[in-house]
Amino acid sequence: MMKQRAVLGVVLMLGAAAWAQAPRRDKQAAPPDKTIAVHCEQMWDGVSEGLRKDVTIVVHGDRIKEIVAGTIHPSAEIPQVADTMGTCMPGLIDAHTHVLLQEDVTAQQYDDQILKESVAFRTLRAVRSARLALQYGFTTIRDLETEGAGYADVDLKKAINQGIVPGPRMEVAGRAMDVTGAYPVLGYDWQLQPKLPHGVQEVGGVEGGRKAVREQISYGIDWVKVYVDRSYYLRPDGVLDDIPTFTLDELKAIVDEAHRERHKVAAHAMALQGVHNAVTAGVDSIEHGDYISDADLQTMKEKGIYYTPTMWVGAYMSEGRGGEWPKMVAVSNETFQRAMKAGVKIAYGTDIGGFSWDITPAKQFETMVKLGMTPREAILTSIHTGAELMGMQNEIGTLEPGKYADIIVVPGNPLEDITTLQKVDFTMKGGVVEYQKQ
Ligand SMILES: [Zn+2]
Repeated sequence: MMKQRAVLGVVLMLGAAAWAQAPRRDKQAAPPDKTIAVHCEQMWDGVSEGLRKDVTIVVHGDRIKEIVAGTIHPSAEIPQVADTMGTCMPGLIDAHTHVLLQEDVTAQQYDDQILKESVAFRTLRAVRSARLALQYGFTTIRDLETEGAGYADVDLKKAINQGIVPGPRMEVAGRAMDVTGAYPVLGYDWQLQPKLPHGVQEVGGVEGGRKAVREQISYGIDWVKVYVDRSYYLRPDGVLDDIPTFTLDELKAIVDEAHRERHKVAAHAMALQGVHNAVTAGVDSIEHGDYISDADLQTMKEKGIYYTPTMWVGAYMSEGRGGEWPKMVAVSNETFQRAMKAGVKIAYGTDIGGFSWDITPAKQFETMVKLGMTPREAILTSIHTGAELMGMQNEIGTLEPGKYADIIVVPGNPLEDITTLQKVDFTMKGGVVEYQKQ
């Protein structure tokens, strides 16, 4: 704890611009103290307009040391040179995941996980999710709550950072917050209901919000996550309306307390009123945002609030969920296009865990390209905007000397064929080869 306080003290001295870099950094396993190299048939560094052919990335410890033209031969100084076919590019970033969730298209699937699986069992499954993330080429994730598994995400992140299990770099949100009676599990015998676990921490009142933020931070979260709306319905005029959960005063208190303690706030906000309250309260990111009014998009642009749209999972689960969900697909696609035009900062987030970890979260890139982004723009929402959202833009997101050696290899040219991101052949995270297709 003392170490944590010391780190925060340094952040404070750096002034207002540095506060975004608040996430708690656990003790990391020592990086490999050796120099290795990755030869790339082609490379996209995440900055240039196009690809470079025949280059070698020299890695020392967990960082990129230099990028040189041509091949190098193994030597006493660099004994290991991995030869890869295809395109080397920066490791991907998913800014909205749930490692502790294993698909919840139906309410029954959700309740079964919360009521029939112990947190220990769910954490073991999360270890698998984390390994799969690396196989899919995602070397960094922002995991936005455990859905009833307490602070198991804090523990998993610690285990990854200490080299106990493989997994991506993580920022985590712990339990998330919602008001009483708004979040599953719900609908059981009222005599049982108070004793049943919930997918969130139930929080009420201005002081209750501040207290919950303090408590969650003490347990090791990076992000505070709040649910700001529920009960979505499509109005005849095409606007997706909702019932706000927290009052504006409650939300403002949560955001103020989190920011005061140098932590950021992600708001699950699907529709008109929830989004409006969240941006008014000054949250840092809007999650899902299936409907956002033009006025709120403008506010998001002005305040620099990130938008993490999740159209792919929306379409994937719409049939199974029924009700308003199938109609919401077109609404969220249209909101995404308006946000692009408005110049809002869009971060790549998929809500994986809401859909099975057996499906690559790179699927959504394809949807974004279908809706009007170039492949390059779509990838930048992940590697640039995602890194910036997490305050890690100086560490990850491009292949440049000094940055973490988070390198993936895909079989084609991702700037021409976005689906090549669904076929990752090789993943290096921090100088360690974490996955190689057999
Ligand atoms: Zn989610």
